[in-house]
Amino acid sequence: MPYKFTFDLSKVPRFFFTEIARVSYQKGMHKTLLKTLQDVIRKFKIQEATGLNLSDAVVLIQDLIDLQAVNLLERKKFLQTKKRALFLPHCSRKYMDGRCKAAFDPSIPSYTCAHCSPDCLVNKANCLAKKKGYDVYVLPGSSCVSKILKTARYEGVVGVACGEEIKISGEIIGGTDVAGQAIPLVKNGCANTIFNMETLFKTL
Ligand code: SF4
Ligand code: SF4
Repeated sequence: MPYKFTFDLSKVPRFFFTEIARVSYQKGMHKTLLKTLQDVIRKFKIQEATGLNLSDAVVLIQDLIDLQAVNLLERKKFLQTKKRALFLPHCSRKYMDGRCKAAFDPSIPSYTCAHCSPDCLVNKANCLAKKKGYDVYVLPGSSCVSKILKTARYEGVVGVACGEEIKISGEIIGGTDVAGQAIPLVKNGCANTIFNMETLFKTL
């Protein structure tokens, strides 16, 4: 399920994400989390940058902080894993129509990138992860995660998606021994979505 609103944080300064990480470290210690969220939103002019209203911006930032807090909790366990997979969202492909040459195998279910466009985010992430020994899946939705985890016994997975889809996948992975790391999209909308390659590089 996508968010009910669209956002684009791709032009927000990198420092914003450092701030999200800082707040995530302190999560649980804050009695006034809502005020902290509103401070972050004001400081980085998130409403002006994205056109979101305050309550949608709070939902978005709260999700980013929650994801980062779970990433931090899981990081040590994840670093000890050997057999890993990367789940990429199909919405970050350069093309969503026939110009994308990826083949879809419903039995997995996953797209396999055919590397038709060097500037395609999914292509770049795919190549990076494969070099690091990951199996890579390009998924049409979080419902594919449980099927893949049942057939291939991964110890660690990195998932890229919008916050809502990551929450659903997190519930699936939370019921297993798999250590997860999540990378939220910085621009959603179910087509031409964007994630940060630097964040992916550091996470892998
Ligand atoms: S590079 Fe891969 S994922 Fe991107 S459009 Fe081409 S085949 Fe599709
Ligand atoms: S933005 Fe991408 S990951 Fe999120 S629901 Fe839409 S297609 Fe799925």
